[in-house]
Amino acid sequence: MNAIPFLDLGAAYRELQPELEAAVLRALRSGWYVGGSEVEDFERAYAGYCDTAYCIGVANGLDALSLSLRVLEVVPGDEVIVPSNTFIATWLAVSQCGATIVPVEPDPETGNIDVGRIEAAITPRTRVIVPVHLYGQPADLEPILALASRRSIYVLEDAAQAQGARYKGRRLGGHGDLVAWSFYPGKNLGALGDAGAVTTQNAALAEKLRMFRNYGSKEKYIHESAGFNSRLDPIQAAALGVKLKHLDEWNQRRKALATRYLSRLADCCIDLPKVPDWADPVWHLFVIRTNRRDDLMKALAHAGVTTQIHYPRPPHLQQAYSYAFPAAAYPIASTLASQVLSLPIGPQMSLEEVDRVIDCIADWGRR
Ligand SMILES: *Cc1c(COP(=O)(O)O)cnc(C)c1O
Repeated sequence: MNAIPFLDLGAAYRELQPELEAAVLRALRSGWYVGGSEVEDFERAYAGYCDTAYCIGVANGLDALSLSLRVLEVVPGDEVIVPSNTFIATWLAVSQCGATIVPVEPDPETGNIDVGRIEAAITPRTRVIVPVHLYGQPADLEPILALASRRSIYVLEDAAQAQGARYKGRRLGGHGDLVAWSFYPGKNLGALGDAGAVTTQNAALAEKLRMFRNYGSKEKYIHESAGFNSRLDPIQAAALGVKLKHLDEWNQRRKALATRYLSRLADCCIDLPKVPDWADPVWHLFVIRTNRRDDLMKALAHAGVTTQIHYPRPPHLQQAYSYAFPAAAYPIASTLASQVLSLPIGPQMSLEEVDRVIDCIADWGRR
């Protein structure tokens, strides 16, 4: 039997090979290697896809988050609320500004920030709330936006894992003040290298971001602020433009696989991801939970099925943050880290392969 990879990026490339290679060649032959029409075309297309007024391409997802916080004028002494259960980049963006990280525990059923716990974490110094749409599942934005607007706090969404997801019927990209995207190759919309973007409905914030990503300059050699160099590469923009046209179809395929997992694993001995009725997730990851996670992972590996853990260690337990948080500080995030397992899912995976993974889990459950 063939092995089942976690995600097959080579197969994704091969499916679009002629289109991708034509677009990349076009960018190479243009003689224009920073900024220019490839970047502008993709920014316009992605803003349109997200139904937002502005899209600003940047170098990667971490920069999308950290430049956004800078644009919101977050400085040392300010507090930024982030989930305790997220990829470390969400936290790194806050530390890069010198601001104070204020983690909030997740709802274990979805992995996303527990909205009921946010209010207690707010202080007069809170400047921004950063909900993360983890695993491609939207966080519960409405109560977060209501809370933030009552207190004049900004909302910056980390949508790195959620290209195409909808919250209450509306595509992510324009709910919060700023929305940060990563196009890292393994994301649902993935480039052929590092890439990222920010979307927003706010013209002033968009203009400031454009300036910050380009040395704090609007006009060449005129620098209004001490900015950064973080631009979306035109070759990546060309590839992203091709892949954007296929995003909805590829997300549909992920959904069909997730639906199969959900229905056929319903009576099994593991906890399945819960989807609130207002959420239309894009299944970046299909994350199950079990107290016997390591054993299940081993059994699947034995059958040739590669799984991953997102994430084996939450940020507060990383050495990088050991100075700031005691190990016992966020028990829900810590417990999730010991239970979660991401099953293979991706647009080039077949239903037959999903059935094989399900059969393996069912066998393991009967042992
Ligand atoms: C991937 C990811 C990022 C960072 O994106 P990069 O492009 O790798 O810098 C940030 N937040 C989350 C939740 C991610 O999954």
